[in-house]
Amino acid sequence: MKDYTTVIGLEVHVQLNTISKAFCADPNKFGQEPNTNISAVSLALPGTLPVLNEEQVASSVKLAHALGSTINKENRFDRKNYFYPDLPKGYQITQEKLPICVGGEMVYMSEGIEKTIRIHHVHMEEDAGKSSHDLHDLYSMVDINRAGTPLVEIVTEPDLRSAQEVHDFIAALQQLVRYLDISDGNMEEGSLRCDVNVSVMPSDSDIYGERNEVKNVNSKKFAKTAVEYESQRQIKILEAGGTISMNTLLFDPAKGTTAPMRSKEEANDYRYFPDPDLPPIVLSDSFIDECIASVTLLPWTAKSILKDKYGLSDYDSEIISREKSTVDFFQLFDLPTKSFSTLASYIANQIFPYINEGQIDLIDLNVANITKFITLIDSGTVSRSAALKSLSDEVLRSTVIDLDIEKLAQKHNLIQSDDQDFLETIIAEVLAQNEGKVKAYRSGKKGLLGFFMGQVMGKSKGKANPKVLTEKLEKALAKD
Ligand code: ADP
Ligand code: MG
Repeated sequence: MKDYTTVIGLEVHVQLNTISKAFCADPNKFGQEPNTNISAVSLALPGTLPVLNEEQVASSVKLAHALGSTINKENRFDRKNYFYPDLPKGYQITQEKLPICVGGEMVYMSEGIEKTIRIHHVHMEEDAGKSSHDLHDLYSMVDINRAGTPLVEIVTEPDLRSAQEVHDFIAALQQLVRYLDISDGNMEEGSLRCDVNVSVMPSDSDIYGERNEVKNVNSKKFAKTAVEYESQRQIKILEAGGTISMNTLLFDPAKGTTAPMRSKEEANDYRYFPDPDLPPIVLSDSFIDECIASVTLLPWTAKSILKDKYGLSDYDSEIISREKSTVDFFQLFDLPTKSFSTLASYIANQIFPYINEGQIDLIDLNVANITKFITLIDSGTVSRSAALKSLSDEVLRSTVIDLDIEKLAQKHNLIQSDDQDFLETIIAEVLAQNEGKVKAYRSGKKGLLGFFMGQVMGKSKGKANPKVLTEKLEKALAKD
């Protein structure tokens, strides 16, 4: 069997989190009773007219800026005509000829490697209503609530080469729209959905094969499975001497397979034309500048700030930058540089689980108390593991505004002792009890230091300061 390369390009639909719908004042809200979040405009009653939502335009400009796209200062809406019961107007308002932005690229990480995907264009449009064919024995059900929800569609170049890359790119895009605060990026609720275009070609070729388009995939896992299934299906056909014909497919999540929805011949002729009800959109420089100025932090800038300014490792900066709110929280801390990695692992291992209990939001935690706690741990006056075990919870849960952390540590008997007499007494005791090992150490078995450390630590009940202890032990053992 020949080697094949899989080629994938995505059309990603992102529902924007604007206050109202794209072309009318209906609230833009998910999860309402069916057919309650509607108005004459959503229902396309005769005589109604669309009005542009400035927030949709602003969101699109922010996204364009993040992707390095060129903004078309003059762009316009077109009508895409087709008949379906969940589309009351009989056409969708979209951008076909002159989208709001073209070009651009995005860098994302896949399995530890930086990848770049080129963006073909981004356009604005509106969502349709929702049809359900499995809720009733006899009828299909239509819910118009979703009709008119503002969308941006991001169309990529066919630059993806594996199911994993598709998964990781979608994850990166979810992260981006959340950073920009233009969408919740929630795939389960359909806020982010993809059409996945898949083709295969012999690995030694550079001519793309015929593609098939898997419609409306609503999870990263499904996107991955769809690509895996679809590429294998196409390879099998080619290996058997067949040819691939262009089809639109539906993904079956239960089976992990794709099935034809329509072929190219049955494809709709959408009869696109400029929407006469909406004048061209002309963007002023000041509007664009204002949108761009509101973009304060992007995932990749967050990561480099965490690495360069705070000295975090790749791993830690990855974890802290996953959500913008965590980065904002992290930046509230004023600590010595070396303590930021302590803070990062504290956030990952203690604060995240606490937040996940759902009692409190990150933003409501007491930064001053946490700062004291991190400082205490890094000062070496308490044992890190003991403090994390018996103090951390109390620090996070405390309602005291200005916690006396030293006192708390003392209460829990956590202060490590560098009390000279106390340590020297124990060291003398341990050396006297282990004469043989002392001799061995002195004749060159320096590895025994760890043994003595362990003995003294045990006798001090973990309260010896390891740094002071090492110094004192080495001194005592050097004596003859
Ligand atoms: P349309 O769906 O309107 O015909 P395009 O032809 O521009 O639009 O392609 C839409 C999507 O298909 C894009 O995301 C693009 O990257 C992807 N695509 C185009 N050609 C291929 C190919 N040979 N294999 C995989 N994906 C492709
Ligand atoms: Mg398409």
